Amino acid sequence: MNTLKGIAAAPGIAMGKILAVDSEELLVPKRTIAENEIPLEVLRFEEALIHTRHQILEIQKRLAQDLGQEHAEIFNAHLLVLEDQSLREEIIHGLKKDHLNVEVVFNEVVRRHLKAFSRTNDEYLRERTADIEDVRKRILRNLLGKTGDQVPQVLKEPVIIVAHDLSPSETAQMHKRHVLAFVTEIGGRTSHTAIMAKSLEIPAVVGLAGAIELLQKGHQVIVDGSKGDVILDPDPETIERYRLEQRRQQEINRQLLQLKHLAAETLDHHHVHLSSNIELPEEVPSVIAHGAAGIGLYRTEFLYMNRSGFPTEEEQYRAYRSVLEQMAPNPVVIRTMDLGGDKFISPMHLPEMNPFMGWRGIRFSLARPDIFRTQLRAILRASVHGKVKMMFPLVSGVEEVQRAKEILAEVRQEMDRESVPMAPIEVGAMMEVPSAAITSDLIAPEVDFFSIGTNDLIQYSLAVDRVNEKIAHLYEPTHPAVLRLIEQVIASAHANKIPVAMCGEMAGEPTMTLLLLGMGIDELSTSPVQLPLVKRVIRAVEYSYAKTVAEQAMKLKSSKEVETFLLASLRQVAPDLVE
Ligand code: PEP
Ligand code: MG
Repeated sequence: MNTLKGIAAAPGIAMGKILAVDSEELLVPKRTIAENEIPLEVLRFEEALIHTRHQILEIQKRLAQDLGQEHAEIFNAHLLVLEDQSLREEIIHGLKKDHLNVEVVFNEVVRRHLKAFSRTNDEYLRERTADIEDVRKRILRNLLGKTGDQVPQVLKEPVIIVAHDLSPSETAQMHKRHVLAFVTEIGGRTSHTAIMAKSLEIPAVVGLAGAIELLQKGHQVIVDGSKGDVILDPDPETIERYRLEQRRQQEINRQLLQLKHLAAETLDHHHVHLSSNIELPEEVPSVIAHGAAGIGLYRTEFLYMNRSGFPTEEEQYRAYRSVLEQMAPNPVVIRTMDLGGDKFISPMHLPEMNPFMGWRGIRFSLARPDIFRTQLRAILRASVHGKVKMMFPLVSGVEEVQRAKEILAEVRQEMDRESVPMAPIEVGAMMEVPSAAITSDLIAPEVDFFSIGTNDLIQYSLAVDRVNEKIAHLYEPTHPAVLRLIEQVIASAHANKIPVAMCGEMAGEPTMTLLLLGMGIDELSTSPVQLPLVKRVIRAVEYSYAKTVAEQAMKLKSSKEVETFLLASLRQVAPDLVE
């Protein structure tokens, strides 16, 4: 038995067998072939080459349209690899010599070349290795009939997935595939992969270096997503202990769910609007089950992922309408697509040096008004089916908000002319870029509400990448710089008589509740599972206590001091939650 330590990403305990999927390396099955199968393998290879060529040409076409010819030309090098006659000859020679399936032969040949290239002093050849590696993976995927997803479509039994990395879009499909839990080698607590796991209630541990090597296929493990622990080959006593813990957690959750119909207000009736975040419409039943008074953040970008092409107006309208109808009369804040960062859609997003500082959120929407307008039309059409609000992600200043509002007004006019029924909707801005928080007084008059996205606000203000496990210890929600920015945003909102919400993961941390409540936050939007915990804290205190906690916390000098102080303050009112 061995306990491995990673980063706690999504709570819950799971026990089961490991299935390792390696994003860095595709699993290639080895098979001996007969002499008369060789022409068939050559044919399969030729077909994979043609298929890959079509895919690359398609990517080039779209890139040329969207970003210009010079970006498309990057892929010329990939095409050259496909046309390389000597590669073809080597494969045929290898097939005849080894009598193995073409995937194995191809992989070996290319790997040999890559090795030689990486050792050479010729800089041009060295630089080509990345292109060749990319083409190798594409061809291999085509040979193996893969569509780009590492997690198998059909699992024979429920398993715990171990991967180098998983994309948010891959995680979004897991609940349909009976995945018990997952462990990744890289990633941080507020990566969208972790957020998605929490939403789907899949226990997860991220940032566990060397996980693939340490956790081999078939091993029995326990994943404790609340602590970030992975226990390898547990003994019977440990299994029993975790079974008991699982039951204890289920009992606590059952008790917390009894708060469902109770108001989110302090002992002296100060009310906070408690809502939930969703990524997919399928999450709405869980939102309702946990007693949320609305949806404070609907991350619509997931509609654009796991598919080819963009969702149509009609498709989006149906998704928004279904969420609104299920939640009515409670409000639903639809955030316009926040594509980019760790939620990219290839081939729209070329690899960027700094994707989180790149073509993301409202920047992408303003650069692609055609895609943006389709979404705005769908939201406006859905507005008659419930109480919808709209907000823009990643704004960095007032001009972006003004421009987005102009486009919205144009779309509304256009739809008015078409006599499409629409309801008036409130428009808000996310406060997640420090420049927006600092100029929140200038932005507030332009909008009906603010929503603080702490996941990004923390990464940008502290310069700590939210998905990088190496610096996860520096990702500190209680850093005085973060608290001051939050204070500033709340002050700007209230000076302009607009409400301010928080929808980052910080909003769902019970340790932060007293602080945020005392700072005057009007709404907290959390993942559904966290919501009852936050409600518990709110209901346990007088508003004046929370205000004193906030005042004291703002005077402290370091994250550690604030954290210790907040834990002690919470212990006073809800000792069981500190356990
Ligand atoms: C945030 O940044 O806090 C936020 C809620 O948005 P996302 O996590 O989707 O970036
Ligand atoms: Mg964000």
